[in-house]
Amino acid sequence: MKTILPLLFLLSSCTQFVSWVQKEKGPQVSPPAIEATAAVTATPEPTPPEPQIDKTKVLDEYCAKINERFKRYGWFDIICNSKRWTFERLSPEGNPLIFQAFNSKVTNATTTLFMCTVHGDELVTAYMCVRLVKDILFDNPEKYENANIVIAPIVNPDGFLAKTQTRTNSNGIDLNRNFPTKDWEEHALSSWQRVKKKDRQRRFPGDKANSEIETQFQIWLLETFKPDKVVSIHSPYGFLDFDVTANTLNQHFIYVSQETKALAYNMGKQSRNFPVVDFKFFPGSLGNYAGNERGIPTFTIELSDNRPENASNYWRTFKSALKAVAEFRYTTKSE
Ligand SMILES: [Zn+2]
Repeated sequence: MKTILPLLFLLSSCTQFVSWVQKEKGPQVSPPAIEATAAVTATPEPTPPEPQIDKTKVLDEYCAKINERFKRYGWFDIICNSKRWTFERLSPEGNPLIFQAFNSKVTNATTTLFMCTVHGDELVTAYMCVRLVKDILFDNPEKYENANIVIAPIVNPDGFLAKTQTRTNSNGIDLNRNFPTKDWEEHALSSWQRVKKKDRQRRFPGDKANSEIETQFQIWLLETFKPDKVVSIHSPYGFLDFDVTANTLNQHFIYVSQETKALAYNMGKQSRNFPVVDFKFFPGSLGNYAGNERGIPTFTIELSDNRPENASNYWRTFKSALKAVAEFRYTTKSE
């Protein structure tokens, strides 16, 4: 008995200790429902307000910079008018990615998206898109009455406004290799590595597809305006290329492909017999993303050089082809 007593005392102490711990910890049940409700309905932390962008000021400042360039190139017949443009996003350097949509009064009018200066050093292409706006608004508005036209004249403003103009954007990425095409993961970097050393820096597709805001902007234009066709103006290779889906199992795409080819040759003919080619497309290129993968016929006009003094001559060469492609209606509509 002598030895049992301390043991009993010890056991009773332990039991007391356990019950004390439980009391301190509280009951082993879920917290009352009211607490959960309270947590959900509690006033959320106030989020800081989005910084307000003064769009008018941004556009005024941007157009002033662009007009300074236009004057330097001797382009006195075009102007960047800040009231004519709008934007939804800024480039990495804070330049607005401008665009404008001109809507026809005709219902079910065909829609064409024109994009220029995707490569910042292809300066004459900026002239072409801005000159097209002048034609639509002032010179020959009656010509475009049956067409919806969307224009993004300077897709890569940072490359265009750089001290030494660059093909790439300010992150060093070729925007015509950055589209999230199906072959991007597997082939974009490997095909870039095969590019000649002197061109390699100019054609870097990025570490990730669709990483660039200028690429996202182009995709947004495609998704928002759902163009029936796209015209992208580049330089200096001197040919007109067209890309359309290679899906030969679908009758609709077979017709679209035939009509696209005929239209491309017609455009070439109207442009002083400019050479037409069916050039290959690249991983991450617009022709691949829009033309091949989405079946949106994509025409790439490659002007023959970048000399600013040739800009108005290029306009005269291509103006009827640009009108022709804008007005062209495909006879088949996809279901
Ligand atoms: Zn280009």
